[in-house]
This record gives sequence, C-alpha cells and structure tokens, in this order.
Amino acid sequence: MSSQPNARRQVYLDHSATTPVRPEVLAAMLPYFAGKFGNASSVHSWGYEAREAINDAREKVASLIEAAPNEILFTSGGTESDNLAIRGVARARKSKGNHLITSQIEHHAVLHTFEALQKEGFDVTFVPCDKYGLIDPDGVRKAIRKDTILISVMHGQNEVGTIEPVKEIGAIAREHGVLFHTDAVQSVGKVPINVNDMNIDLLTLSSHKIYGPKGVGALYVKRGVRLTPQLTGGAHERRMRAGTENVPGIVGFGEACRLAKAELPEESRRLTKLRDKLIEGILRQIPDVILNGHPVLRLPHNVNVSIKYLEGESILLNLDRMGVAASSGSACTSGSLEPSHVLLAMGLTHETAHGSLRFALGMSNTEEDIDYVLEVLPPIVEKLRAMSPIGPGSGL
Ligand SMILES: *Cc1c(COP(=O)(O)O)cnc(C)c1O
Repeated sequence: MSSQPNARRQVYLDHSATTPVRPEVLAAMLPYFAGKFGNASSVHSWGYEAREAINDAREKVASLIEAAPNEILFTSGGTESDNLAIRGVARARKSKGNHLITSQIEHHAVLHTFEALQKEGFDVTFVPCDKYGLIDPDGVRKAIRKDTILISVMHGQNEVGTIEPVKEIGAIAREHGVLFHTDAVQSVGKVPINVNDMNIDLLTLSSHKIYGPKGVGALYVKRGVRLTPQLTGGAHERRMRAGTENVPGIVGFGEACRLAKAELPEESRRLTKLRDKLIEGILRQIPDVILNGHPVLRLPHNVNVSIKYLEGESILLNLDRMGVAASSGSACTSGSLEPSHVLLAMGLTHETAHGSLRFALGMSNTEEDIDYVLEVLPPIVEKLRAMSPIGPGSGL
C-alpha cells in the first residue's frame, strides 16, 4: 500500500464487496486442506470425516436462516446460487408458464440471469422502485399474470442498503401459487431471517460477505420445490448441484454462519450506531450531499451518499491515498463509466449518480475509524470542488 503517503490509519469500508476471513473461521478450515482431505462421497473413514464436516456446516447455515439442514445446497457462491435458483426454477416450471418477475435494482447475478432468460424466450417484468430504492409489494402483485412462475426480489440492496419488504412480496407470491426467490447475500448475518415466517421458497447466501472464505455459498430450497440442475455430473447435493464438495470452504462458511448468528443482535446494533454517526457527520459537514437509500429501512452496515458536482471515482482515489477504502456507484472498472443501474432506477440524474460513494461497515470498524473518515473526507471534497468545472455557480 505504497500509494498511501498521508494515511494515518487503514480504514476498510468496503465490506459489501468482500470481508476478511475471521481467525476462528480460518482455524476451522485449516485441517480440511491436508490432514482431513477426504472426498465426502467416498465409502471409507476419510470420506465419512468429510461428509460429517459438511453435514455439520449444513446445520449451521440452516440455523442462521431458520431452515432445515436438508433445505440447504452448497454452491460456489452467491452468483451460482442466484443462477441455480432462477434458471433452475424457470426450466423446471416451463410447462406451467413463461412469465418471470424481478426488480430493476437487483445485483447483476440476478439481473443478467433474467436478461439471458429473456433472450431464450421467457417474458420478464422488471418492476421499478421508488426514490428510496424500495419495491412496492403492490407493484409486484399487479405484475403477476396467469402464466407467472417465479418472482425474485432481493432482501438487502447491496449498493444503497434499502431493506425490501420480502415478507409481503413472499405472501403475495404464495397467494398466487408463484415461487419466490430472494438474494439475501447482503442481509444474511445483519438482519434476522426466518425463511418460513418470511414466505421464502429460495434464498441466496454467500460466504465471503460474512467473514467466510471466497468461492462458497448456499441456496436455500424449501422442501418440495423442484429445480432443474444447472451442472451435470455426480449425484452431489441431492442431485441438484454436481461436483466434489469444497470441504474446507464449506466448513469455513458454516463456522462464519454460526458466529454471525451468535453475534447478530449486538453487532447489528453496533454497526447501526456507527452507520448513523457517519451519515450524520457527512450530511452536517459537507454541503450539497444527499443520502441515497431508505433512511430507516436500511442495512446496518450501509452508507451511500451522493456528493454533488463531483465524480465518485476521484473521491475514491483521494480517500485511498488517506488509507480509506470505499466504493462508488459508477462502474469505471468495466471501462464504461456508466452510472449504477440502481441509482438511475431510483431517479437520480446521471450527474448525481456519478457522485455517489458507498461506505460498507464491518466487524473491524470502530468509532475512531468513523472520526477519521469525517476528518479526511470534507477537505478532499473541498479541494476537488475547487477544481471542478461544474458546481452550484456554473449553471451545470
Ligand atoms: C456479492 C453479491 C453477490 C455475488 O456473490 P458472490 O459470492 O461474490 O458470487 C450476489 N448478490 C449480492 C447482493 C451481492 O452483494
């Protein structure tokens, strides 16, 4: 990190992109790389040992969302779980209907999967959100047709933090005999989830967003829900996901879920306090800033603001030089500098969307971290605005 000449602190505020593996998780995983290396399908002690470790992890993952262990399928991550849920249901229920419903503000793992199905001939309705990024359950109800087979609406929005009314949407889906999937990658471990109480048929989880290893995730599939497998091969994961299980990854994911469940109420409260301190500080100290996302129905770890007249990317570079890691709402990495589809769906102008910054808090963050950000961010904004060709006085 030699590009941080002035950093007096390292503050990682990008926990929605990924999180570090926590030490307890790493310790749980290590034996399964070499000593306990068995293939869980093998009929001998090495195999049984791996099988038992997977079963134990399955119970821990299930427990975090109040599901039964045999309703959990392990996958390679959130992206695969979203793909398996959406394509798997679309293909399995094709004879029942051709219509699918999702929202305009889904993660690309969901959005691009629906777009691919659209090209294959499925009819897809993308329901809009309001200015807070909230999906109206009534809008979903109105989109339902006789041939609707699946609704997918995310739980916690990954960019702006809005918590969607999934319980209400799930109830509407059930009323109409339509299956309901939710991508809960950002809300799992942060907000209590009970899949039965919330009327959820399929739910996506990812390990590396909750202090587990990368490359492992799970899909909750309610008992009785049928999926067409998307990988062909062996009979792993109740024939729904072929491939030798990633035993160390699954063990780590299980431990991460166990810890998340044990710590959820207290950690959620702690993050909410830090979140609100950061939001209030930014709004108080920097003029012409707007909070993106819902002020109350919000993930405990998400802060998203638009700093008017500036590009999020240039603020990010300056923050990085001060040791602060955040993210912005324009996908410059994809080479396009297209503003986020989420912010545009919420009605932000291109200019305001380009000035968005996301701070995603996590376990390691302290009150001192927030003080530090509130100390370094205002002068960065002031400096950049002084150099900016657009601004309140420029008429742009
Ligand atoms: C990170 C993320 C994903 C993708 O999960 P991976 O495990 O990285 O594939 C899907 N949905 C949401 C909301 C996410 O934040």
